[in-house]
Amino acid sequence: MIDKPSEQEEEYFARLEYEKKKKMEHEKHLKLAEEEKKKLKDDHFMRCPKCGMELIEIDYHHIKIDKCSECEGVWLDAGEFEAASNLEKNTLDKLFSVFRR
Ligand SMILES: [Zn+2]
Repeated sequence: MIDKPSEQEEEYFARLEYEKKKKMEHEKHLKLAEEEKKKLKDDHFMRCPKCGMELIEIDYHHIKIDKCSECEGVWLDAGEFEAASNLEKNTLDKLFSVFRR
């Protein structure tokens, strides 16, 4: 008599294999997402989100402000809007006067 695994066992091993492959695919997707994120960052880092040209960064009272070299848009990193809004009006005026031509 051939020692054949029961159907239950076969189902169990098929499911195990499916779960294992599913996990592998999921990890592949995560890795792809990471690579895509890295590529996007490499392509766009310190580039204007509107026109794609280089940003010029200035540091004033520990607030880093990025200004586009082309369209003159001004960009703030996370938390910097709050930090800028806490500046005295006088300091804020001086900050923006750096960009004035
Ligand atoms: Zn721009």
